[in-house]
Amino acid sequence: MYCIKKMMSRKALLFVLAWLLSLNAGFVQAGDASVEERSGLKVVATFSILADMVKQLGGDYVAVNTLVDWDEDAHVFQPSPDDVKQVAEADILVLNGSGFEGWLSRLLTAAEFKGLAVEATKGVDLIRLDSGAGKQGFVPYKDRKQANVFDPHAWHSLKAASFYVNNISEALVQVDPAHEQDYQRFKQAYLNKIESLDRAITTSLSRIPEDNRRLVVPHNAFAYLARDYNLTIHSLQGMSTDSEASAADMVYLVRMIKALNIQAIFTETISDQRLIRVVESETDAHIEGALISGALSRTLAPSYLEMVQYNTDMIIKALMR
Ligand SMILES: [Zn+2]
Repeated sequence: MYCIKKMMSRKALLFVLAWLLSLNAGFVQAGDASVEERSGLKVVATFSILADMVKQLGGDYVAVNTLVDWDEDAHVFQPSPDDVKQVAEADILVLNGSGFEGWLSRLLTAAEFKGLAVEATKGVDLIRLDSGAGKQGFVPYKDRKQANVFDPHAWHSLKAASFYVNNISEALVQVDPAHEQDYQRFKQAYLNKIESLDRAITTSLSRIPEDNRRLVVPHNAFAYLARDYNLTIHSLQGMSTDSEASAADMVYLVRMIKALNIQAIFTETISDQRLIRVVESETDAHIEGALISGALSRTLAPSYLEMVQYNTDMIIKALMR
């Protein structure tokens, strides 16, 4: 170190200093330019599925940030100081609503959020936890007591997704009316894709006999998929991944699988597999693979429509046998 210092002439030092300063100046300029470039809307989505929808609907006019990232579980999310900053600077915040983001109200208060908050599930025909809709044969004990609580996982219904799309698009137009025509165009193109995927899945699933349309998943995230496509989906855990199933829940589910001769069990990409593997070992059913419940997967399905396609492909493959 001493040697290097001695070897470096005063001239060389000045040169290095000048070079460093020029780098810094270049950096500042680049920073300023990029601020000017993204004069568009700043949108924060609470989780990856909504972030993807915002991208589809806002195109280059929006810069989207997501709080719960791809491959992360929104049920157990803890906001960071950087998340507070993102929300504070946002023009629009898109949330799922219906009780999904339990951590959000404190975050909004901390950020003193003054933008437009959009609840994507507004207008969706939500499933009540005590309604038995979606043919959810088994609602774990702790959820049964909560009357009037709605199932937030509505994104698994492509029909509900059209409400998400309309709500998000309406907010973009409200905050940025200058680009209304483009937003309408993006919306229509996206709705067309959603509808054609829905038709394709309905056709594929119609080939599966009624008696085979039963499956088991770790947490109760797929009731909307069950309702749309006439499936019966049983789960080990309740609405959230944040609490473990009890021994009674496991015994009940094993009995259910045997009584109904259910063959297909799925894990989830973002949840612990240990308990569902114990259930599998107690029955003749087999684990068929991992479904994507609440976080898009960078490797398996990075977009919302790819997620729906991925999940339904897995289910159709398992139930066709
Ligand atoms: Zn969930």
